[in-house]
Amino acid sequence: MPHRSITVSGVEITPLCDAVGPMGAAIGRPLTEMFAGSGLRDEPWVLHFHCYLLRDAAGRLTLVDTGVGAADSPAASWAPVPGTLAGELAAVGVAPADVGTVILTHLHSDHASGAVADGRPAFENARHVVQRAELEAAAGPMLDDVVSVIKGQLHAVEGDAEVAPGVHVHLAPGHTPGHQIVRAGEVAMTGDLVLHPVQLADPAIPYLYDDDPEAAARTRAEVLARLRAERAVLATAHFGEPFTAL
Ligand SMILES: [Zn+2]
Ligand SMILES: [Zn+2]
Repeated sequence: MPHRSITVSGVEITPLCDAVGPMGAAIGRPLTEMFAGSGLRDEPWVLHFHCYLLRDAAGRLTLVDTGVGAADSPAASWAPVPGTLAGELAAVGVAPADVGTVILTHLHSDHASGAVADGRPAFENARHVVQRAELEAAAGPMLDDVVSVIKGQLHAVEGDAEVAPGVHVHLAPGHTPGHQIVRAGEVAMTGDLVLHPVQLADPAIPYLYDDDPEAAARTRAEVLARLRAERAVLATAHFGEPFTAL
């Protein structure tokens, strides 16, 4: 079921719970290896996979991330597929064709695979906002099975941009080259800027699958400091609870 929604600065934000589960054997590791030096216990990591539906004051819909995708998606080797995003949207009365904008925080398979269903764009009427640096780095199944399928709907941005009234994206590289976060009012949808709450206390704790660990840690520290100064609320992809007050 969708988690409870909140409204900030005229934008209603509804967390959609696409999937819950541990990573599969292909890339799953104990928490101690995922977050080296964190002091976390040596146990499996159970993740939520959250997307966020934004409804602006004019009623237009923006979806942040598209989840793990279908049973045969690029995430199938490691994530708890199939994702339930379509059902989550239906539960709040939204059809995929109603979504006008999709923002992809980055092109990892658990965030972008749900942009495609049965080899076709899942959100037929949506432009898909992605950082140019992320598109330029796309490769493998994410390029062949996702980016190529939605290429007619891609909207590349560089750096900061307002993509809907009151909805902004900001480049936050390191986890991937063109990773971006999304702001609406005091809420920041942070993609994979932080993967586990332990990184809020210490942004220097690395995540095993950050592309560029040093850049990721630097970005994490800078962005979290800024958000903390603004008393922002985080809307994370993978924490158990979607909203986290800083
Ligand atoms: Zn959840
Ligand atoms: Zn990622």
